[in-house]
Amino acid sequence: LERTFSIIKPDATRRNLTGKINAMLEDAGLRIIAQKRIRMTQEQAETFYGVHKERAFFPDLVKFMTSGPVVVQVLEGEGAVLKNREVMGATNPANAEDGTIRKLFGESVEANSAHGSDSPENAAIEIAYFFAGAEIV
Ligand code: ATP
Ligand code: MG
Repeated sequence: LERTFSIIKPDATRRNLTGKINAMLEDAGLRIIAQKRIRMTQEQAETFYGVHKERAFFPDLVKFMTSGPVVVQVLEGEGAVLKNREVMGATNPANAEDGTIRKLFGESVEANSAHGSDSPENAAIEIAYFFAGAEIV
């Protein structure tokens, strides 16, 4: 079974949406095999979003991701990477399909409630950055 890395972002934890988002993930056939609520450090946010460091929105994005607690997760299921991205919807909530996490809950292209890995390769890197092997069960 494939694994992907997911984050419930600060805009969603602030509005107490963790349970609703987890229900959507589980209803889609994804199993939450690791999960913890953390406050991301500036260094973690900068490293995690390192591919975007030349983008104009990078400083704001780091500020947002460290603005409150996040829930980091490992999800497992058939085609988990794509399935999770389907459940999340498009990056910009305005462009997201009806019934997706970002359409239902996203506040803006930045505060879009959820992150999901974009490939199995990146999923492995992102999972290893936040979880020890023994935490994934
Ligand atoms: P994610 O990586 O969170 O799954 P994504 O892959 O759909 O989202 P990316 O293009 O990788 O989107 O951007 C990473 C994150 O950076 C987005 O989820 C969003 O929070 C933020 N972001 C992307 N584009 C913009 C933008 N134009 N303005 C502000 N924030 C942005
Ligand atoms: Mg991305």
